[in-house]
Amino acid sequence: MSYRVVIVLGVAGRERLGVVQAYRFALDLTPRQERAVLAHAGAARVAHNWALARVKAVMDQRAVERTYGTPDEQLTPTIGWSLPALRRAWNAAKADVAPWWTECSKEAFNTGLDALARGLKNWSDSRTGKRAGHPVGFPRFKSRRRSTPSVRFTTGAIRVEPDRRHVVLPRLGRLKLHESARKLARRLEAGTARIVSATVRRDGGRWYVAFCVDVDRAARTPNQPEVVVGVDLGVKHLAVLSTGEVEPNPRHLHTAARRMRRLARRASRRVGPDRRTGRRGSRRWERASVRLGRAHARVAHLRRDGLHKLTTRLAREYGTVVVEDLNVAGMLANRRLARHIADAGFAELRRQLAYKTSWGGGRLVVADRWYPSSKTCSGCGTVKTKLALSERTYTCTTCGLVLDRDVNAARNLAALAVTVAGSGPETRNGRGADRKTPLAGLVAVKRQPGTAKAGNTGTVPPQGRTSNHELTHAS
Ligand SMILES: [Zn+2]
Repeated sequence: MSYRVVIVLGVAGRERLGVVQAYRFALDLTPRQERAVLAHAGAARVAHNWALARVKAVMDQRAVERTYGTPDEQLTPTIGWSLPALRRAWNAAKADVAPWWTECSKEAFNTGLDALARGLKNWSDSRTGKRAGHPVGFPRFKSRRRSTPSVRFTTGAIRVEPDRRHVVLPRLGRLKLHESARKLARRLEAGTARIVSATVRRDGGRWYVAFCVDVDRAARTPNQPEVVVGVDLGVKHLAVLSTGEVEPNPRHLHTAARRMRRLARRASRRVGPDRRTGRRGSRRWERASVRLGRAHARVAHLRRDGLHKLTTRLAREYGTVVVEDLNVAGMLANRRLARHIADAGFAELRRQLAYKTSWGGGRLVVADRWYPSSKTCSGCGTVKTKLALSERTYTCTTCGLVLDRDVNAARNLAALAVTVAGSGPETRNGRGADRKTPLAGLVAVKRQPGTAKAGNTGTVPPQGRTSNHELTHAS
């Protein structure tokens, strides 16, 4: 039996590395400011929907002409789908379509047009096979009810005030932050960061501003570069490490999750919307679902906060971090909510570790999803055929090892990395080691939204250079 192991190497031999990083802060908007943000988000929607309607009309017209047998060169000419083309068309038409356009920043319309340009590109790339993954659907019209209000600014006065409690955005002016922006402000003052864009968005009933920032980070080395640590993500605890450390769940997570379940039950008893009959949800359903959305956001935030603290600590401390791959089969099989939350954490843990280890000079090893980390004895290597979820302690019948189930799994993960590292020089060290494999893109790092500049629609430059390759480990 052999298992694939994916290794993500850190940055090799660099003093400093430029990365694109997001800083997000909660906002305390006044009613007047909230109206202004909503007006901007509405303007983005109007521009998006107008341009989409125009694109569709031309496509339909050409389709009809084709059925008449019109030769290709006499068809209605196509219109550009790029952001500059959409923006030219919008600027020519805005006086008629939106005579109120001067009331909003041009960035608002740009937000909507950029989203459309991306959507169209993703759709056509997906259709022609240039884009991997699930097929991408054709962009849909944005509705005021369904879409999340958001607006992005890429030019003009974007800054953090010296008091670090306020930010200034074009047109919207001075907005109060709910928390201190000191982490970002320190970098801006030291000249190691440059704001690329700022996005104001509502999430779970609350407003946030997210800064997309070009950061110049000092290259680091983990405190224990030679040490390997295995991480087993759990339900009862946030994680268990191969060192035996148990990372507790964030405080209040349990209470928040219970509240979420209660609100979900309540919402399900109300008269909800029905797509088939076109029925709208009742007011009581709407109220209940708003509260549910808030509870969901709170659980997600608590969990994410815990994961951030854990991954920062792991990446600073250990040279090699080993995690399991996403357990897709398990996710589908188990419908328990707690399990679901933990599974959602897997992807987030891996995403955070991927970039944090690359910033910290360490490396991340992702074990194959079929590697039986729970069923293997970390003492003698015997693999059990069955291990019930209820068995919290691993007891080996071969060598007599008795160990906490999660610690056993974490130790197996750590041992896996050691075996892999011993199999070839290319995996010995994340920084400065000889590597035989070509450089590729960093895996599992999400593209931060809103990082394309106003003038171009595209993806973010790679976040440091990393190598991702596969090895075969025979066990
Ligand atoms: Zn054993």
